[in-house]
Amino acid sequence: MPSVLVIGAGFGGIGVAIELRRAGYTDVTVVEKADDLGGVWRENTYPGAGCDIPSPYYSYSYAPNPGWPMRFSLRSDILAYLRRVADRFGIRPRYGVEVTAAEFERGRWRVHTASGEVLTADVLVPAVGQLSRPAMPDIPGASTFTGHSFHSARWDHDYDLTGRRVAVIGTGASAIQFVPCIQPSAARLTVFQRTAPYLVPKPDTRYRPWQRRLLPLERAFFWALCEVGVLGLKGNRVVTAAVERIALRHLRRQVPEPELRAKLIPDYRIGCKRVLFSNDYFPALRQPNVHLETAPITAITPAGVRTADGVEHEVDVIIYGTGFRATDFLAPIEVRGLGGRSLAEEWTDGARAYLGMTVPGFPNMFLVYGPNTNLGSGSIVFMLERQARYIRQAVERIAAEQSCLDVRPEVAERFDSELQGRLGGTTWTMCRSWYRDGTGRVTTNWPGSVSEYHRRTRSLDPMAFERVAR
Ligand code: NAP
Repeated sequence: MPSVLVIGAGFGGIGVAIELRRAGYTDVTVVEKADDLGGVWRENTYPGAGCDIPSPYYSYSYAPNPGWPMRFSLRSDILAYLRRVADRFGIRPRYGVEVTAAEFERGRWRVHTASGEVLTADVLVPAVGQLSRPAMPDIPGASTFTGHSFHSARWDHDYDLTGRRVAVIGTGASAIQFVPCIQPSAARLTVFQRTAPYLVPKPDTRYRPWQRRLLPLERAFFWALCEVGVLGLKGNRVVTAAVERIALRHLRRQVPEPELRAKLIPDYRIGCKRVLFSNDYFPALRQPNVHLETAPITAITPAGVRTADGVEHEVDVIIYGTGFRATDFLAPIEVRGLGGRSLAEEWTDGARAYLGMTVPGFPNMFLVYGPNTNLGSGSIVFMLERQARYIRQAVERIAAEQSCLDVRPEVAERFDSELQGRLGGTTWTMCRSWYRDGTGRVTTNWPGSVSEYHRRTRSLDPMAFERVAR
C-alpha cells in the first residue's frame, strides 16, 4: 500500500486524506506548519471574516452540515465544520511541521522540514493553497512609517483601533468585510481605493429550522447559479449585463451622494476581478468618520500615506488589505523531480499543471488547488473534492502497478495550450488582478464550469501517464 504525504491541513489537504481513508488507505500523513487545521480560515482572523459562497455549497458533498447557522457563514463556523469533519474521519494532522524542500529520489519522495527531519513517502500531495502568502505592496517609504501596520491576513488583535486614525489600503474581498467592522471604533478611517470593485447584495439569512431541511436544495440551486455565472466570465453579454445592472442598482440604492457614488463606479468589464457580495460596505463608507481616497498612493511617509495630489494623510495605523501572492505556487518549498529538475525553474514562464494537478518530470506528485483550478464563480470545495477523487484513483493505480505515474509531457502541453487559448477569451485578461502572473498569463483560474472539471477529472486516463520504476 503506497504511503502518502499531504502538505497542508486546509480544506484541500484534509479532503484528500479523507478520500484516501474512505478508500481504505491507512498510510496517509498530513503535515501542517501551523498548530491547527483550517488553512485560510485559520489564518484570516480579521473582523468580519467569512465566506461569500453559500455554506451548503461550500461543504464536502459527503459531509453536509444541517447545522449551518447562516447562509454565508463566518470563519468560526467554517473552521468548526472542518474540525468536525476531520474528527469524524479520524484525520489527525501533525502540526508544527513546516516543509522546506522535497525531492524525488529512487522512486520515492524525500521531504525535508524546517526542524531538519526527513520524511519519505511514495506519493506527495502539496495542498498549500493559493492564498496563503500575503502580498505587501512595494510602496516607497513603507519602512519609514513610524505608526503601526499589519496585513489583513496577519491581523494584530492586540492593537486596539478605538479612537485611532486608520488607513486601509485595498478594496478587495477581505477589505470589504473588515471595513464595516472597524469603522464604528476608528476615530477616522481612510480607505485607499485603486480600483473600484463590483459589489452585489449578499442574500444572507439566518437559517430557521424549516430552512435547514432545504439545504440540499440550496446547494443545488447555488451550484446552478454559479454555473450560469461562468457564462458571464466567458463573455456572455446577457449574463454580464444582468450582473452589472444588479451591481449598479445596489450602488445607487446604498449610496445617494453623487460624489461618493461616482468614485465607486468600476471602470472595467465585470468579472475581470472577483465580484464581491456585501450589504454593509457601502453604508460604512458613508459614515462621517470615513473618507474614500481614490488619488493614487505615491509614498508612505513616517506620518502616513501620501497621494498623487500631494496630500499627506496622517494616520496611526496602516492596514494592508492588499491580497496574496497567489501566482507563487508552492513557494517557498523547493521541489525537485526526476534528474534533480527544479519545479520553480519549470515554472519560470508561469505555473502550469495537467488538470491543475500533475507536472511532467515530477512523478507521483499531485497538487491540490494547483495552477488553473481557482474559480471566478463556484465553490472551491467542489473543485478540491474532484481533485481528491482523482488523486485517490492515482494512488489506486500506483498501488496496483507498483510503479510511479509521470504525466506525459505532450499531454500536459496540449492541456496547457487548450487552457491558455480559452483563457484568452475570458474577462480575466482584461484587467490587472491576482489571477495573472507578472507576464499577464492567467495561472490561477479554471476557464470552464465546475461540471466540466468534474467530467474531465472523473476517471484518470492511464494513457496520460508514463510509468517510472519505483
Ligand atoms: P485582493 O482581492 O487581491 O485585493 C487586494 C486589494 O488591494 C485590491 O483592491 C488592490 O487594488 C489593492 N492593492 C494591491 N496593491 C496595491 C497598491 N500598491 N496600492 C493600492 N492598492 C493596492 O485581496 P483580498 O481582498 O485579500 O482577497 C483575495 C482573495 O481572497 C479574494 O479574491 C478571494 O478569492 C479570497 N477571499 C475570499 C473571501 C470569501 O468571502 N470567500 C473573503 C476574503 C478573501 P487593485 O484592484 O487595483 O489591484
